[in-house]
Amino acid sequence: MKALVLEEKLRLSLREIELPLDMGPRDVRIRIGRVGICGSDVHYYTHGRIGPFVVSEPMVLGHEAAGVVVAVGREVHHLAPGDRVCMEPGIPDLSSRASREGHYNLDPAVRFWATPPIHGCLTSEVIHPAAFTFKLPDHVSLAEGAMVEPFAVGLHAATKAQIKPGATAVVTGAGPIGIMTALAALAAGAGQVVVSDLSAEKLAIAGQYPGIVPFDIRSGSLSARVAELTGGWGADVVFEASGSPRAYDGIFDLLAPSGTLVLVGMPPDLVPFDVVAAQAKEARIETIFRYANVYSKAVALMASGKVDLKPLISASFPFEQSIAAFERASQGRPSDIKLQIVVEDSAS
Ligand code: ZN
Repeated sequence: MKALVLEEKLRLSLREIELPLDMGPRDVRIRIGRVGICGSDVHYYTHGRIGPFVVSEPMVLGHEAAGVVVAVGREVHHLAPGDRVCMEPGIPDLSSRASREGHYNLDPAVRFWATPPIHGCLTSEVIHPAAFTFKLPDHVSLAEGAMVEPFAVGLHAATKAQIKPGATAVVTGAGPIGIMTALAALAAGAGQVVVSDLSAEKLAIAGQYPGIVPFDIRSGSLSARVAELTGGWGADVVFEASGSPRAYDGIFDLLAPSGTLVLVGMPPDLVPFDVVAAQAKEARIETIFRYANVYSKAVALMASGKVDLKPLISASFPFEQSIAAFERASQGRPSDIKLQIVVEDSAS
């Protein structure tokens, strides 16, 4: 099968590769339609590793996918050939203690697409467990279906935040995950979400959405702006989605008493934390690792029209131009929120 293979750091090829295609009774076979390029795919390309995960042999990239079911195992009843679907890319061991206790995303044995040594989905067909495959309604495109994966991160963060109707939230960082976290917070009932960044282009894209208040951190103090918007009380929830250690400077100044800080971005280095500032507000601190149990809710929000992720798809490339797509993604253009690869157009 043809696939986009990361041979080693900084070397991609679009070539034939042998991938396992044996299907169990609870699996489905899917023809891949669209795949979004994630920051993690780009990081494996440019650095060859993320923390302890090192690319030591050729690996197919891609984990944000939607496609069309072509065959189902004999014990699969909720999907049929022809169904348009999106796939949750992390497959846990469902008999593990983490899974049994309800935290399947934290199973140490989880097999996640395009996380070494597991191949990703930038190829023409994959076998996937039906339990982690979600049907898309007719009016949700495969392009939108491939946005469910990053949106799931935001939705998991908003779920952990326990947002109340009308709450004010702040999201630091207007990358794809930051914007999608803001949209998830609005869908969860937030009245307004301040999104901060230092890229005017990213803020302009975020600011298209009603309810999002963009804030350029070069223009002044974010905490002063939040105070102004909340009568001096502070935000009920702050989502840190930039991964920048600098975002932690004075982060509790943004928060209302008894507010919640959700850590979404992953800083590359250790971050010092003002414990007393957190205690003085009895801040609740939540963290997330990927997501669990949010895919069908993400699809429902898109199907209902409450969340529209189409404006975040900045460009799409044919499969043949996958390497060019990765080169563009690695440039990190500020106006590029999400780039997608069209693996098979007729599947869209
Ligand atoms: Zn991703």
